Amino acid sequence: MPIQICNFHTDGLGCFQPVEIRFGFCSSCRKQYCVDHAVKTSHGCSEVVRHIGTLIRNERRQTTANMVYWNTLLGVPMRSRAQQGHNTKGLTCHIRGLEGFNPSAPQTPAQRSARDTIFDDNNIGLESPYGFVFIDFSDGYTITARILLFSTDDRLPKAMEEFADKVELGTLRFFQDLQLLGKRVVPQVLAVGYGDERDDPNSNIDFSYMLFYTLPGVPPGSFLWSGTFGKQRERMFSQIAEFFVELEKHPMERMGSIIWDSPPGSQNPSCLLTSFGSYATFNGPETSLGPYEHAQVALADFFRHQKYQLKTKENGVDRVDNYLILLWKEAKLPALLESMPSGGRGPFYLRRALDSALTIGVDKEEVDIAFILDWRFSSFMPKEFAFSSLSFMWPADYAQGNNVMTNDECYFATCFENMGRQDLSNIVRNGRRYQRIFNDFFLHHWPTNPADMRSSFNALRRDFDSNDTEGFDQWKEKMLVEHWGDKGLQTIIVQELLAH
Ligand SMILES: [Zn+2]
Ligand SMILES: [Zn+2]
Repeated sequence: MPIQICNFHTDGLGCFQPVEIRFGFCSSCRKQYCVDHAVKTSHGCSEVVRHIGTLIRNERRQTTANMVYWNTLLGVPMRSRAQQGHNTKGLTCHIRGLEGFNPSAPQTPAQRSARDTIFDDNNIGLESPYGFVFIDFSDGYTITARILLFSTDDRLPKAMEEFADKVELGTLRFFQDLQLLGKRVVPQVLAVGYGDERDDPNSNIDFSYMLFYTLPGVPPGSFLWSGTFGKQRERMFSQIAEFFVELEKHPMERMGSIIWDSPPGSQNPSCLLTSFGSYATFNGPETSLGPYEHAQVALADFFRHQKYQLKTKENGVDRVDNYLILLWKEAKLPALLESMPSGGRGPFYLRRALDSALTIGVDKEEVDIAFILDWRFSSFMPKEFAFSSLSFMWPADYAQGNNVMTNDECYFATCFENMGRQDLSNIVRNGRRYQRIFNDFFLHHWPTNPADMRSSFNALRRDFDSNDTEGFDQWKEKMLVEHWGDKGLQTIIVQELLAH
């Protein structure tokens, strides 16, 4: 089932094709289209291209202009403090910089300027989808609200965004249930709740927010990703290795994501392992793949799902090439599972999808990790992928097909060796093929640049067989001959021929 249907209408008739998952969003009219109507002129928009930065700035201005929503936002931290057993009688709270703000009264110049700068004062990049505000309580307590203003490259159905929030909250509650929070080896923050402005019928703003205890740390200095090794950087890497060893003690029997939700018939939310809370695994407006007891079943289902998206044009990028790549991956599945020490069986381990260095915070001396942020899309994955190196350690030209271990990765492997964990060190040293296969589960990570897509795939082939150095075009020719009878492939080729 498609995730969304094209918004194109003509003479009262709709187009029933699925929305193209990567490029279906039009930044001018802010609607979603199929691969045939995604081009601005084909659905009636002017060809003026709006830069994403401009779009973001305008959205932020719009958001901050409609201040009524802040009152809804303030209700959530108040409720969550009451739930935690605080006496909230007589307690008040306000957004820092907006003391005494009254949405129905004219704003003072000070309030207006606070309002306008609220999203610019946080040293977050222009492209960041998040805004941060601090909510101060009259008893001195502070909560940080991270507001997801929009998704960067996809406009997703509400159910998908909600599911991503539930996964993040579920994962943090999982740490809390294990009483891992506060232990030095599990640097972590606790989310105290989340809200969704889209639930409010009086609001026309479509964003959600996550509330955290205010963080004690600061974003890491440039040492973390500068590529130069110093004592601080070494310490950081060994702390991440310790964190991995702690995570290893808390596996799950199935592959999937943890959500914070109430089981049917129960009022009390708890941590439940369920289907994958990742954009790439959604196979309908409200359904996602998983959970699975074996990586073999998960991968077979995932490849089938991706082939279906290519056949229906839900994924409209290099359809023939990507379809052939999936046929190759399906054929390699037995070899892949055989290469895995786990054989693809459980237990499975938590892997963070958004593992950029920018989401790791350090203490004021930049010595210890203070927190690790952003657990959206996290999933329980086979050990060979879960404990492989993090994306900020990968070669800068990973997407262009570099399989060679970086200094970062070698040092990370050494950290495990120093802890007597040769097995985890081996996972880091041999992790490339699992990264190139399992990382696709999280987001729509397929390279959209054809050259990258080809060289990245060539690198995956080389990882399986170092003698497989054939160029992409020769490989493709052979595959076309070999799989000529495949119905899905025939459908795509015919569609592409008719379209050109
Ligand atoms: Zn448009
Ligand atoms: Zn259409």
